[in-house]
Amino acid sequence: MALLSLLPVFTSFIATAQLQSNRVFEQLGTELPTPNTYRTGSGAPGRDYFQQKADYSIKVELDDVNQRIIGEEVVTYYNYSPDPLSYIWVQLDMNMFKDNSINALSKTGGIDEKMTSGQLSGLQSANSVYGDVDNSRERGYDIKYVKNMAGRDLKHTINSTMMRIDLPEPLTTNQSVQFQIAWSYNMADYYGRSGYEYFEEDGNYNYFVAHWFPRMCVYDDVNGWQNKQFVGNGEFALVFGDYEVEITVPDDHVVVATGECQNWDKVLTRTQKKRLDEASKATDPVLIVTQEEAIENSKTKSDKKQTWKYKASNVRDFAFASSRRFIWDAMQTDVYGNGRKIWSMSVYPKEGNPLWGQYSTKVVEHTLKTYGKSTIEYPYPVAISCHATPRGGMEYPMISFNGGRPEADGTYSENVKRGMIGVIIHEVGHNFFPMIINSDERQWTWMDEGLNSFCQYLSEQEWSRDFPSRRGEPKNIVSYMRSDPSQMQPIMTNSEQVIQFGNNAYGKPATALNILRETVMGRELFDYAFKEYAKRWAFKHPKPADFFRTMEDASGVDLDWFWRGWFYTTEAVDQDLAEVEWFSLDTQNPEIVKAEGRAEHEKDTETIANIRNRTDIPQTVEEADEKYRDFYSSYDPYEVTPQDKQRYEAYLKTLSEDERKLVESGMNYYALKVKNKGGLVMPLIVKMEFEDGTEEVVRFPAEIWRKNNIEITKTIPTKKRVKKFVLDPYQEIADIDDSNNAFPREPEKPTRFQLYKSSSRASTNPMQEARQNGAAATQGAD
Ligand SMILES: [Zn+2]
Repeated sequence: MALLSLLPVFTSFIATAQLQSNRVFEQLGTELPTPNTYRTGSGAPGRDYFQQKADYSIKVELDDVNQRIIGEEVVTYYNYSPDPLSYIWVQLDMNMFKDNSINALSKTGGIDEKMTSGQLSGLQSANSVYGDVDNSRERGYDIKYVKNMAGRDLKHTINSTMMRIDLPEPLTTNQSVQFQIAWSYNMADYYGRSGYEYFEEDGNYNYFVAHWFPRMCVYDDVNGWQNKQFVGNGEFALVFGDYEVEITVPDDHVVVATGECQNWDKVLTRTQKKRLDEASKATDPVLIVTQEEAIENSKTKSDKKQTWKYKASNVRDFAFASSRRFIWDAMQTDVYGNGRKIWSMSVYPKEGNPLWGQYSTKVVEHTLKTYGKSTIEYPYPVAISCHATPRGGMEYPMISFNGGRPEADGTYSENVKRGMIGVIIHEVGHNFFPMIINSDERQWTWMDEGLNSFCQYLSEQEWSRDFPSRRGEPKNIVSYMRSDPSQMQPIMTNSEQVIQFGNNAYGKPATALNILRETVMGRELFDYAFKEYAKRWAFKHPKPADFFRTMEDASGVDLDWFWRGWFYTTEAVDQDLAEVEWFSLDTQNPEIVKAEGRAEHEKDTETIANIRNRTDIPQTVEEADEKYRDFYSSYDPYEVTPQDKQRYEAYLKTLSEDERKLVESGMNYYALKVKNKGGLVMPLIVKMEFEDGTEEVVRFPAEIWRKNNIEITKTIPTKKRVKKFVLDPYQEIADIDDSNNAFPREPEKPTRFQLYKSSSRASTNPMQEARQNGAAATQGAD
């Protein structure tokens, strides 16, 4: 403890900071594009904002014998840009699977001692093997024709996953052009976004059909044509439009798709129609096709066909699922209490039960409800969750393909259940980002995955108390933020170059938003601004700057430092509470000063030699002989004298009333030296544990670092004496090293290790074990 004198002027101590060149708080300025009349400085669409439109009329047949998609489409493309277009670009996503695609040719990796076939095909795409191999099952599109409406071929050039169609004459502003394309392709095993799942027991396929038709590229004010090749990670950049799709499948299939079915009357049985009618009034899911019916269905294969007709308005894409194995449940509910009913539905094979029947459709409705609170109300008439794959998930407008599969015996681990609920929330949530708030996935994965993972976290927390969300909580991103910087890129990195995809594009941005909400902006300001972004850019094409700017514009919080640190760098948060100095005001009251002096002196004289000498030296000269003693032999310098009191009175007279109160208050001043070791500036959150057992948390904004981002001293005055200081006590800033957060330092906790004996324990889940226990108990009772 150091004493600080209140001299006539209160002397502040001189900060030890060296001047740092601190760009951390500079405005983003040139990093963001200059605002213009298309996109404003506020982050809102500008007065000249435009977007194109593409309407599709499609006839498609699913060939269940050969697992082939055969389609014809008429595209009507509207040019609302100010620019004449002499050609247009169309995406041929399925060509990513061709031998000559960038995806196929640019895979890297070596051979390990043991390789799965999946790992092997990860080295090179399935068909691109050199030498004499059988490539009987071709992949990618077979484009039959590209014609105008008069039936004349249109000149077109295929560049891998992109196709340029040259227009006979430029398409001018506010004009539209119509053309038709016919194509087909061989479907593949479900690869994460689309494909089929084969069931050996009955020889049937479940089909999940997506990015299956030639789709228009986006033309906008920022990129012109977004015709970056589909390499694999960067998903889709798509235009809004209206769809009419006729899907022809075997007549014993159930089809679900983007949009509303126009002919349920024709394709459904009377019983199914009756049940749908019931479901339209239900508040719990009603089975339209039961498990028994689905099992019965899968025993035979019809060779008759049936066409399901769908319509969808103002969507950026269209996907569907089809199978004779589907169980189907649905309910049409007033999700937002405004009288508008929305269908929540699920289709799943029996392999999904009991989980899917119990949870899926309810989770769909829950997602619409909770996302509606943080963004906008779901505008579409239906939302569907399909069980497509044991793991993973993929989103399309109004429909998503999701994982989460129990064991064959119907038990499941808690992870599988939480994972299934989480993935359904996530994929249904994608309706908001990017299906409605239509960002460019080909360029920025974080704009949909990050924002969506954040909303997913909010939604999960409303599903069950303390839901163990994978992403969102700052502590969950710490191990990534602590990892090798050479294995990281800033969030602002194109999707194809991103490594550690899940952490970079999902986890880190979701965490950043959570930190903004809880720690930097507060819930009220954040929620308002986030909703404003959703409202401004619903059914439009936002870019990163539009998000960054809107969040500031609607909240009045300068966040340039935050975007710069979290989105443009790979720095981490590591606040180090290096030192705390304790100062208390010197009262100069002799009663106090001298008593403290005496205590100090007594402590000082207890040295080992003095202690031993008290017995080892029976008598000193002074003690033995009085004539060698004088005034100082018995003088007590710690005794308060009248002169001391007079001097104190005189000092008090020089002080004003306020100064006097301050002197008598006995204030403590703690100077906290905090180092920013990780690079990311963040608010400083300090918990003080007082000597009397109480606690208090104080918060200082990130701007505390604005003059020196390396090291600061923050002085905290307190009446009570502090026993301990702890930084970031609620783990809210993703500090990667909490061993330097306390002063005095906490003792290290032991790292536990196990004495290991190898054992072959069959893997089970607690549900299975409980069942076994139940069976054992029953047997015992008999
Ligand atoms: Zn996602």
